[in-house]
Amino acid sequence: MLKVHTVKCLQDNYSYVIHNESTNLVGVVDPSEFYPIDTFVKKKFNKLDYILNTHHHFDHTGGNLELKEKYKSQIIGSKKDEKRIPGIDIAFRDNETFKFGNINFKIILVPGHTSGHICFFSNEEKIIFTGDTLFSLGCGRVFEGTYNQMIDSLNLIKKLPGDTLIYCGHEYTKKNLEFCMQYENNEFLIKKKKWISDRLIKNLPTIPVTINEELQTNIFLRCDLDIVKKKLNMLNADEVSVFKKLRDLKDSY
Ligand code: ZN
Ligand code: FE
Repeated sequence: MLKVHTVKCLQDNYSYVIHNESTNLVGVVDPSEFYPIDTFVKKKFNKLDYILNTHHHFDHTGGNLELKEKYKSQIIGSKKDEKRIPGIDIAFRDNETFKFGNINFKIILVPGHTSGHICFFSNEEKIIFTGDTLFSLGCGRVFEGTYNQMIDSLNLIKKLPGDTLIYCGHEYTKKNLEFCMQYENNEFLIKKKKWISDRLIKNLPTIPVTINEELQTNIFLRCDLDIVKKKLNMLNADEVSVFKKLRDLKDSY
């Protein structure tokens, strides 16, 4: 069994401390900074076997070197980011498997936000760490890839089992919801709005969410639907044009 502990970092980042309860291995996904991760890990486990990075941006790797030095952790990342991820020890290619004890994480290459961005997906545990590719009710900005690549990447995630839990890199959900609701007002979004404010009032994360929930609410996963195309006056446009339009609107939102 995998247990996931959410640790808030920086302004609105989430790092995730993962514990394989049967083998007692401990890892952290995207340590934004040293101090909050160290505080949590020191008290609870007093070890850190692995550091997993979804991509090279500083708010996802900022804690790498200090944590590695203190805990002698192994740093895992994308083969494409071998030169950009601080302290990387093991580089994975698309579709390869990282064995976290008896739990397998499939590496899914998802270029778009950055060219080497990866997700860690466990089919047994029905969990995916999506970094800055897919957020709840949103997606990452397209910095290094093309819109085509980004939509292909999102479509890879869309195809995973619907009950898969998504753990993403930022708490952007409220702002993302406001954007989605400019164009759609379905029952799921209305319910979600209430749920999000309940969570945030209690200072609780709005993460994780399931893929099924996102399919009903996240407009960036709904670019292929006529109901969305119509709203944008793009009924005859293809998915990638709709996606680009939405992404541009969101960039200036
Ligand atoms: Zn990023
Ligand atoms: Fe980020």
